[in-house]
Amino acid sequence: MTDQATSQPPISQSTVYGYPRQGEDRELKRAVEGYWAGGTAEDLQSVARHLRQQRLTVLRNAGIDEVPVNDFSLYDHVLDMAVMLGAIPERHRQAVPVTDTPTSKLDRYFAMARGTADVAPMEMTKWFDTNYHYLVPELRESTEFELDASKPLEELAEARELGLRARPVILGPISFLLLSKAASGARQGFEPLSLVDRLAPKYGELLQLLHDAGAGWVQLDEPVLVTDQSPQVLAQVRDVYAALAAEQARPKIVVASYFERLGDALDVLAKSPVEGLAIDFTGPAAQNLTDLAAIGGIPGKRLIAGVIDGRNVWLADLQTALSALVTLLALADRVDVSASCSLLHVPLDVRLEPDLDPQVAAWLSFARQKLDEIVTLTRGVSGKAAIAEELESNGALRVIRSTSPLVRDEAVRARATAVGADDLRRHSPYAQRAEQQRRRLGLPTLPTTTIGSYPQTADIRKARAGLRKGTVTPEQYAETMREEIRKVIGLQEEIGLDVLVHGEPERNDMVQYFAEQLNGYVATVNGWVQSYGSRYVRPPIILGDVSRRQPMTVEWGKYAQSLTSRPVKGMLTGPVTMLAWSFVRDDQPQSETARQVGLALREEVLDLESAGIGVIQVDEPALRETLPLRKESRPSYLRWAVDSFLLATAGVRDQTQIHTHMCYADFEDILGAIVELDADVISLEAARSQMEIVDELASAQYPNEVGPGVWDIHSPRVPSAAELTERLASAVAKFPSDRLWANPDCGLKTRGYGEVRETLANLVAAAQKVRAGG
Ligand code: GLN
Ligand code: ZN
Repeated sequence: MTDQATSQPPISQSTVYGYPRQGEDRELKRAVEGYWAGGTAEDLQSVARHLRQQRLTVLRNAGIDEVPVNDFSLYDHVLDMAVMLGAIPERHRQAVPVTDTPTSKLDRYFAMARGTADVAPMEMTKWFDTNYHYLVPELRESTEFELDASKPLEELAEARELGLRARPVILGPISFLLLSKAASGARQGFEPLSLVDRLAPKYGELLQLLHDAGAGWVQLDEPVLVTDQSPQVLAQVRDVYAALAAEQARPKIVVASYFERLGDALDVLAKSPVEGLAIDFTGPAAQNLTDLAAIGGIPGKRLIAGVIDGRNVWLADLQTALSALVTLLALADRVDVSASCSLLHVPLDVRLEPDLDPQVAAWLSFARQKLDEIVTLTRGVSGKAAIAEELESNGALRVIRSTSPLVRDEAVRARATAVGADDLRRHSPYAQRAEQQRRRLGLPTLPTTTIGSYPQTADIRKARAGLRKGTVTPEQYAETMREEIRKVIGLQEEIGLDVLVHGEPERNDMVQYFAEQLNGYVATVNGWVQSYGSRYVRPPIILGDVSRRQPMTVEWGKYAQSLTSRPVKGMLTGPVTMLAWSFVRDDQPQSETARQVGLALREEVLDLESAGIGVIQVDEPALRETLPLRKESRPSYLRWAVDSFLLATAGVRDQTQIHTHMCYADFEDILGAIVELDADVISLEAARSQMEIVDELASAQYPNEVGPGVWDIHSPRVPSAAELTERLASAVAKFPSDRLWANPDCGLKTRGYGEVRETLANLVAAAQKVRAGG
C-alpha cells in the first residue's frame, strides 16, 4: 500500500462515449432525407464521412485523448447493431434482397427503419428514460447471427487515419438481447436472452477483428444493467463476459453503463475479468460512488468516470465533480474522465444560440462545452492547482445563477409553499361530480370525442412560418387560426361528435406552445436533439421559477365555444409532460418545478372554467415514460407526478369535467397513479394493443370514466364502422358502458382530412350502433 501511495498514479485521460450525429446545420438530416427522396448513396455516404471526420476533429481539437467510434449512425445505433449481427427480419430480407450494389445494403437498412410499401418497419421504442427512440430487433429461436463488422472497422480506420486513439463503442450482448423482442411467429415463450450462447461467439469474432485493426480498447455498452435484473440475468452477464475475456486476441474491454445506479450488477462487473468499467456518477446514478467504495473499488481495472451530466444542459459543478474524481482515484487502477452517457442527448453547441441572453448562455453547457469541462477536469485530477482559474470562474457563475432574478421568483416560491392538501382534492367524489356533469353536458352513453389536434395543414404551417418571418401580421395569423377553428368545429358538428375540440391549429408543439408563454422557460434556435432517425426535437429549457404571464389558451377556447352549442373541450399540457419534454433544472428537485407548472396550469384551468368551458383536458402522455428506471424510485416519482396533476386540475367546480389523455401504451405500472389522478375521464392509447387496457382498468376497478382509443391514429388506414363497433363492443363487454367513451387513441395532427372525416364518421356510427345494443 505504501508503495502505491508514494508512486504516481497513472495519468488520467479524457474521453466520451458519443457525440451528436447531425452536424451544425443538421446536414445529416438533409442528406438522409435527400437519399430517401431519390438521392444517390454516394452523396449520402460522402456527407456522412465528412460529418464523422468533422466530429473527430472537434473532439481532437477540444483535447479529448481517446475518441469514440461507431457511435455515429445514419439512423439508430441499435439498428446498426442488428445489421452488424445479421439479425435482419425475414420480411426485410425478402423485400430488399442485398445484391452487390452499394445501395441495396442501405435500402434494406432504411426498409428496416421505415418499412416499404409492402412491409412494416421494425418497432420503435424509447431508449430507457430518454427522448431518443431505437428500433427493436426481432429475434426468434431460429435466428442465426452473422457478423458484418464493416461499420465499426471503417470508422476505426477513419479515426486512425487522423492519428487518433479510438475506442469502438458497441452495444453489448446482454443489452442487445434484452432490448430485442420475440419476432412474430417465434415459439411461444421464446426469450431473446436464450440466444446468448449463439451470440457470444459473434462478439468474439468482432473483438478479434477490432484487435487486428489496431483497437487497443473496445467499449461494450450494457445500459440494461441499470434496470432491475434477476440473479439469473446477472449470472448470464458474468458468464458472457468471462467468455469474451477469454478470447485470445482482443482489445481490452470496458463495460459501460449509464442513466442509473448499477446496483447488484456492479459487483458482478467488478469481479468479471474485463479490464475496465465506465460508470455514471451523476443524478440518480450518483449512488454508484458509495456503492463502488463499499465493494472496495475495482483495483487493477480502468475506470471511466462519467462525472459530467450527459443528459442535461447545465454548466457542471466542477468542484463537486473534481472531488468525486479524487475519491475515485483510490478506487481503481486508473481513472479517466467522461460524460455520464453519450452526448447524443444534448444539443451541439451553445455558441450556435445567438439569441440567448449571454448571461443565460454562460450557465449552459451543450455537447461542445461539455468536452471542455471534461478536459478541464482531466487536468484537474492531476493537481487542483492546474485548474484553479477554471474552478473559480465556474463557481462564480454558479453563484450568480443561483441568486439571479431570472431564476428565483419569490412570489412563485411563496405560492408553491402555500399549496395545501385541499388544493389537491376535488370538492366532491367522482359519483357526485358525474351526476352534475351529466346534467350540465347532456351527453349520451358512449359519448364521442377526439383527443385534441386536427390535421396541421400546409396553410397552418405557412401562416406560422410567415408570422415568424414577419410576412404575416399577428392579426392575419389570428384570423387564419380562427378560420381553421371554424372549419374544425363545423366538421365535428356535421359528423355528429358529442364533445368537440378547437383542433389546436395554433400549436407548433404541445410543450413548446406553453413553454413560450410561461415565465421560467427559454427556447433555443439550434438546440436540436435526435428523437429518432432523421427527426430532431428542440426541447425548451426550464431555467427558473415557472409562472403564467397571462391566459394562454382562453381566447381560442372561448372562440371555439362561441361557434357551437355542443361542449368544446379546453386543451392543456400537464405538468409532468411539460417537464419530460424539456431540459429541467438541476438546482431543485423536479417535484418543485412540477408544482410550479401545476400552479400555472391551475390558473389557466380556472380561467377556462370562468370563460364557460365545461370540459377541460390536461394531457399527460409522458407520465409513463419518465417513470424511473429502478422500481424503488417509482413511488416518490408517482407521488409528485400525481400531485402536480391534481394541483392543476382539482380547483374546478363539480360540474366542470376534467379529462386527461395518455399514450405510448403499457400502463400496467402506473394504474394506481391513473386512479389517483381522479380525472373524470381518461382517454388512452388502446387500439394497437388489442384494447388490453380495458381489461387492466376493469381488474383495477377503475372508478371513473374511460375512453380506450379505438382508432390507431399512427396509421393512415381507415378502420371501418364494423371494426370500430367490434372494438367498442369488446370494451362494453368488460367495463360498465355508462362510464365508457368512444374516441381515437391520440391527436389527429399527423393525419390527413380524408382519413379523419371518414374514420370519425365511422366512429360516430359505431357508437350509435353499440348504444342501440350492438
Ligand atoms: N392533445 C394532444 C393532441 O391531440 C395530445 C398529443 C399527445 O398525446 N401526444 O395532439
Ligand atoms: Zn396521445
